[in-house]
Amino acid sequence: MSQEIINPLRSKEYGLKIAAEVGKESEIVAKQLGRPVRIMNFCGTHEWAITHYGIRSLMPSSIELIPGPGCPVCITPGYYVDLLIDLSFNKYTVLTYGDAFKLPGTSGKKPRSLFQAASMGGSVKVVYSFTDAVKIAAEKPDEKFVFFAVGFETTIPATALPMFYGKIPDNLYVLVAYRYTPPVMKYLLNNHPEVEIDGIIAPGHVSAIIGSESWRFLPVEYRIPVVVSGFEPIDVLTSILLIVKMLKEGKPDLVNEYSRVVKPEGNTYVKEVMNRVHEDVDSYWRGIGVIPESGAKLREPYKRLDILYHLGIEEKIVEDKLPGCICDKVVLGLAKPVDCPLFMKGCKPQLPYGPCMVSSEGACRIWAENM
Ligand code: SF4
Repeated sequence: MSQEIINPLRSKEYGLKIAAEVGKESEIVAKQLGRPVRIMNFCGTHEWAITHYGIRSLMPSSIELIPGPGCPVCITPGYYVDLLIDLSFNKYTVLTYGDAFKLPGTSGKKPRSLFQAASMGGSVKVVYSFTDAVKIAAEKPDEKFVFFAVGFETTIPATALPMFYGKIPDNLYVLVAYRYTPPVMKYLLNNHPEVEIDGIIAPGHVSAIIGSESWRFLPVEYRIPVVVSGFEPIDVLTSILLIVKMLKEGKPDLVNEYSRVVKPEGNTYVKEVMNRVHEDVDSYWRGIGVIPESGAKLREPYKRLDILYHLGIEEKIVEDKLPGCICDKVVLGLAKPVDCPLFMKGCKPQLPYGPCMVSSEGACRIWAENM
């Protein structure tokens, strides 16, 4: 984005004006509710913007901003990491994005992550993209490779498009750990009313793919206002104000604040390709549970790329809560990173213990690096 567009979206003066208006409006709503207005920012990148730009500190006591489950690395099952560690010592090279490199598996034992596996002789490489993985595998046809496909709807096209259009080498497999975002929001509202969410800031990047209309169910079925938001401070502040105003008027709706990027229908072309390559399946989210139709599985004729299918392994759910770590509560909005006794003690960005401290989208990591 050019500076001409960015500068007004980072204007301190304008930001303070919006924050003052949020203060006025939210006091009225908080009085009606008998408690602060609780707004969940679904996405890790929004949490980064809120923390980095000090937006939480601009909020009055009548507003609480709660980080949500929008960090794909944090919710990736520990069992997948265990499996990949094993493979890295057994004739496969594991190719992973950097943000999942230090993700812990289910046990506290060494090697507990691909990072530790690499330091102990496992074959692991960090790659920037699936296209890099394809190149690496094509250059070494006598070796076997497995790509760790972690992410939400924003990341899925990175593998779906090359699979659909390209030629994937026979020696490359994929561990598909993709998860979809609207199902987890529904699950959270149905199963955890104690989180008391009054409004939701919906993810901007994800919505660029799936479309802002994907969040229409929130005002229609749950009477919760939702704003699809951009990631600059003025975007986030405007989204908070829009939510508070909808609450004050008692008219919950869907607003697309990020219309410079997000269309109501999303990217229909990419959605079609994703749908041809994957089918929706009930899937396990670390720290949360099994959520109906919240994950992706490769369809025919792409199934042969699936490492679980290739090895004849049934997907398992293995207890992956680490002793002392409250990341399960953090991703559900039931606790803050600072509530964890290990925060910045036994768990730091340089040496993460729990999953929420690993990725730059994890709430613990964001709080640790921006406080
Ligand atoms: Fe888990 Fe570390 Fe966060 Fe504590 S600080 S909840 S141990 S990730």
